[in-house]
Amino acid sequence: VDYYLGNIERQQHLNAFLEVWADEARAQADAVDAKRAAGTAGPLAGMVLGLKDVLAYAGHSLQSSSRMLDGFKSLFTGTAVQRLLDADAILIGRQNCDEFAMGGSNESSYFGPARNAADPSRVPGGSSGGSAVAVQADMCLASIGSDTGGSVRQPAAFCGVIGLKPTYSRISRYGLVAFASSFDQIGPLTRSVEDAARLLEVMAGPDGMDSTASQREVPPYGQLLAPAGHYRIGYIADAINSAGLNPEIKAALEGRLDHLRGLGHVVEPVDFHYLDVMIPTYYILTTAEASSNLSRFDGVKYGYRAPDVTDLESLYKKSRSQGFGAEVQRRIILGTFVLSANYYDAYYTKAQRVRRLIKDKTDELLRQYDFLVLPTTPTTAFRIGEKQDPVSMYLADIFTVQASLAGVPAISVPMGNDAAGLPMGLQIMAGAFREADLLAFATELV
Ligand code: GLN
Repeated sequence: VDYYLGNIERQQHLNAFLEVWADEARAQADAVDAKRAAGTAGPLAGMVLGLKDVLAYAGHSLQSSSRMLDGFKSLFTGTAVQRLLDADAILIGRQNCDEFAMGGSNESSYFGPARNAADPSRVPGGSSGGSAVAVQADMCLASIGSDTGGSVRQPAAFCGVIGLKPTYSRISRYGLVAFASSFDQIGPLTRSVEDAARLLEVMAGPDGMDSTASQREVPPYGQLLAPAGHYRIGYIADAINSAGLNPEIKAALEGRLDHLRGLGHVVEPVDFHYLDVMIPTYYILTTAEASSNLSRFDGVKYGYRAPDVTDLESLYKKSRSQGFGAEVQRRIILGTFVLSANYYDAYYTKAQRVRRLIKDKTDELLRQYDFLVLPTTPTTAFRIGEKQDPVSMYLADIFTVQASLAGVPAISVPMGNDAAGLPMGLQIMAGAFREADLLAFATELV
């Protein structure tokens, strides 16, 4: 704990942590030591973790990096976090992220951007940016983030660490601040596949507090990491040949595919022709869900309340106008629009249909192949302030939203650095609930 606290202290310029729980973490460490001496320590004893600022932990501030939740402290602990504590993990602090997890660069945070440790003039990715930097720069052993459309995988790729988005419903969402409820999943950011497996094993499983959490039994992921011989691997040809893909990422990915062929796996191109509809579909559905989920932040029940209001209407308007940042307001307005009576069928219903097509095709490919491989991101980490246009930011999610729309698990593993020393990520998708295979295969690629 002292080692990580020192690293946090020395690297404050990276703006990874919003709050550090130094005394509590030391006390937890002492308690774990005592349990260890007594032979009763849990499976995560000794793991020092950071939590993205979207995870409820009783008595601790929870702000989703938003002014809207100024001063708010959680009244309860979410299921995943409680399971980590019960397994004797040590929680060291609350990590910076995009406001309400909306973004891909951590720049929409009310607390300012986190910075990439490989080049602090560049973004760490987002929305779990602080969580990725914290692992990259050794400020904690692993972080717990959330992934709606890539928010664990993309920052993992930009920071050279591992990021896992489990199957939708594998981990309870109870105590995760909702962004888009039919997409949101909690996921770990780690330095090793083994740690990702351990954390998943502890957090996953049925939960009486989230009726959408899967009832399926949780395999002992940590003990199933031996690759099972030769796999059938598909790579999405349209992704590798897409015009926006950075040539160094393309070359690195082709190198990995050759490597896999050399190991005896079957590696084949597959057709998947929905790339161009992926971003519109994702942004219609997630903004619709977000506009509904964020209606609870009204200036009355939580956090920020505007001063100088005259009546209820102005309380709502002023609190929401001042409490939410520009990106969150943009999404609430867009989501409200696509759900409005005259446009519902043209946008929302249509996007639901397209989601189904994407899911069916993805599931079909994942029956024909054990895994689908594609880049995690089209580029390496960009400069802070470089992407001013929201659409260009959205387009950067092109490769991560497929797994989110389809609800299947996906992992980003490091794929070396480009010539400028910036990390690149390789993404692997598997069929629903095939995390054990996904993690076993990932061990061959790191
Ligand atoms: N970048 C995507 C977005 O802005 C993903 C965010 C996320 O997964 N939370 O919606």
